[in-house]
Amino acid sequence: MPKLSLRFVPLLSLALPAFAAPAQQPIRITADLTEAPRKLYHAEIDLPVHAGENSFTTPEWIPGNHRPTGPAEDITGVVFSVAGKPLQWRRDDVDLYEFHVEVPKGISTIHAHLDCIVLARASDKLAVLEWEKLLLYPSHTPVKEIPVQPSVTVPKGWGIGTALTPVQPFDANTKPGGTVQYQPTTVEQLQDSPVIAGEYFHEFALALEIKPAHFIDVVSDRPDDSNLRPEILRSLNNLVREADKAYASHHYNHYNFLLTLSDVAGGEGLEHGQSSDNGTEELGFANGKHLLGNAEPLSHEFTHSWNGKYRRPDKLYQTDFSKPEVGELLWVYEGMTQYMGNVLAARDGMWTPQQYRDMLALSASQLDYKSGRIWRSTDDTAIAASILRGGSPVWSNWKRGQDYYQEGELLWLDADTLIRQLTNDQKSLTDFFHIFLGKGGNTGPLIVTYNREELIRDLNEVVKYDWADFFHKRVDLINPHADLDGITRGGYKLVYQDRPSASEITLLTGGGRRGGGPDLWYSLGMRIAKDGTITDVRWGGPADKAKLAPGQRLIAVEGRALPADGDDQILLFHEVLTAAKSSTQPMHLIVGSESYVSLVDLDYHDGERYPVLVRDGSGKDYMDEIITPLTRAVTAMPVLSPDK
Ligand SMILES: [Zn+2]
Repeated sequence: MPKLSLRFVPLLSLALPAFAAPAQQPIRITADLTEAPRKLYHAEIDLPVHAGENSFTTPEWIPGNHRPTGPAEDITGVVFSVAGKPLQWRRDDVDLYEFHVEVPKGISTIHAHLDCIVLARASDKLAVLEWEKLLLYPSHTPVKEIPVQPSVTVPKGWGIGTALTPVQPFDANTKPGGTVQYQPTTVEQLQDSPVIAGEYFHEFALALEIKPAHFIDVVSDRPDDSNLRPEILRSLNNLVREADKAYASHHYNHYNFLLTLSDVAGGEGLEHGQSSDNGTEELGFANGKHLLGNAEPLSHEFTHSWNGKYRRPDKLYQTDFSKPEVGELLWVYEGMTQYMGNVLAARDGMWTPQQYRDMLALSASQLDYKSGRIWRSTDDTAIAASILRGGSPVWSNWKRGQDYYQEGELLWLDADTLIRQLTNDQKSLTDFFHIFLGKGGNTGPLIVTYNREELIRDLNEVVKYDWADFFHKRVDLINPHADLDGITRGGYKLVYQDRPSASEITLLTGGGRRGGGPDLWYSLGMRIAKDGTITDVRWGGPADKAKLAPGQRLIAVEGRALPADGDDQILLFHEVLTAAKSSTQPMHLIVGSESYVSLVDLDYHDGERYPVLVRDGSGKDYMDEIITPLTRAVTAMPVLSPDK
């Protein structure tokens, strides 16, 4: 899409819903989720056609994934037909997402049936529909110009959550389950409007005084977990109020947080304009311990409605899903969202201020010790985003990953504290959000693209500074160390102490993300899994110098066998690392590979090292100011203690 200059867009068109598509016959699609427990989704699709060759396609590049993850390989049982009579089809030889069908004269609509094998996001009790699993539409046509009329069929008794608007208004007396028809939209908006459904379904309205309306729809595998606790709902109400104040505009007709809680359906966090698809563990919101790792995704994906969905880097927007997305500005799209996702988790009360600082220390230290930063810029991690997600942890610190998330968090903290300092605390990044994210006022779901020049122009509107140079130095150039200026200017410093922070202990002992076992990254320079497997070795660290390798298994340390229990492992390394501080001898390890066992000497005497932020008395505490709620709704923090 050519860069859309807001100056030339009549305000009236901004106010129109994005599905105001040309008056043409819509595609009709019914998604059938009744066989979700059997890992199969079905679709019945009526496609308007013309005589001769017609080409239909299924999405390849998925917005928000920034990768070609459309599940073409799992689409099966494809049948095109007219009046029940099959039509021959042929897949395109080069574009494997595309089907060619020859249509006889006099036919204006054909039918397509297809199935999708769905191995994740479905269980016996719930299902998530991402429409790219079932969508079929004319190839090489801007997807915002293709009208579509969707319907969804779910098992009897299952509730449905989605940002799509039903044709029939909600009736509390209607039994859940069966087929729901939704108002016509466009293929672009339908792909952006996932559906969750489940037997144990709850919907909660949030912050009723804020317009437009906000809801959270929750499904879980067990009966009680989707019935969110009052403390969680209080924080979610705060989140809506805080975002309203921070961004001062809306770009949705209503907003639905979609939350699936399941230990079998797999996790997800994907932004959409009018909703977000959040999938986590069954007990993700059951207690404070699990909440530490699960709070931020909700505020992160919500922030994306403004930063990423409404305001989109120009080359990340494509007129149809067959064209590659260019990741160069992901340090804004994801990085600024990462920053605000964490800030809002503290402002809404899901995290305590201490937890916010602990989590920031963990990501800042990880970046500061990321060895691959001596050859690869943050800019390159953004450009290469589509080949950096997931993958093996082996030498991942030397390769770098999607570092533009956390690099972006530090970068925008740097910018926020700098604006506060330059303006004598009169302005902040919030003033920038009001300009950059609020252009055009309140709108329905809409995509308005930007480039780096506009970003710099808008920052200069807040405070004059050489922002071009600011970004160039931090993003484009090689930086052997992480940008810790925001933390320092914020009144704190990153230090390493001999005990993990309370938050790191929560994460290490079953808070989800990290799993059990000791954190040896900043001491010995390696990560070990619970079974002793060395999952990664820090390039240039002590374990690297001792020629240890990812994939080896740690069998014994200083003559003592590695215990099976994670807490016992933590205790063992505490004793061994403490003893090594007063010794000049190397540590003796026994490690095994696939076929051999070997003795390894590891020379390390600096004791245990865990990252934390400590108050640095010399500067103003901008960091504390930043995580203070903007509304009066949050009067007492913390709302939740990790022990609850
Ligand atoms: Zn994101």
